[in-house]
Amino acid sequence: MSKKKEKDERFKRFGTVSFTSVTKVNDFIDYLDQGKVMGTRCSGCGMVFFPPRADCYKCLSSDVEWFEIEGTGKLITYSKLEYAPVGFEDDLPYCIAVVDYGDYKVFGRIAGEIPEEDIQLGMAMKTVANKLPGGQLNYVFTKG
Ligand SMILES: [Zn+2]
Repeated sequence: MSKKKEKDERFKRFGTVSFTSVTKVNDFIDYLDQGKVMGTRCSGCGMVFFPPRADCYKCLSSDVEWFEIEGTGKLITYSKLEYAPVGFEDDLPYCIAVVDYGDYKVFGRIAGEIPEEDIQLGMAMKTVANKLPGGQLNYVFTKG
């Protein structure tokens, strides 16, 4: 019996609308499914990547290991979206943000249940895996 080689399209499950289905970091989706948001760290030089990368642009090594985005970072900027790209209209309004973890920054979306008046620059935020309707996955920022 020969097993048909299947295309690894796990990234189709990422986000409200996935813009890419095949990447070198598809394990990211499996980790999200397990409730973990993961980045990668270069074993060669220690560079830390989020979004995860399979190849280090600094030392050109492809020896990277996964690590979990844990603890809290600091909200350094955010923006409330009143208009969104095609496919995201039903999510409006929502806030996109950058949370600084020191060695790396995470770009993402603030959890919809946080009222806008509670959002303060400098506040501690956690990055958590999130399940969307239809089996899609993403991650959001919640209060730390
Ligand atoms: Zn490196």
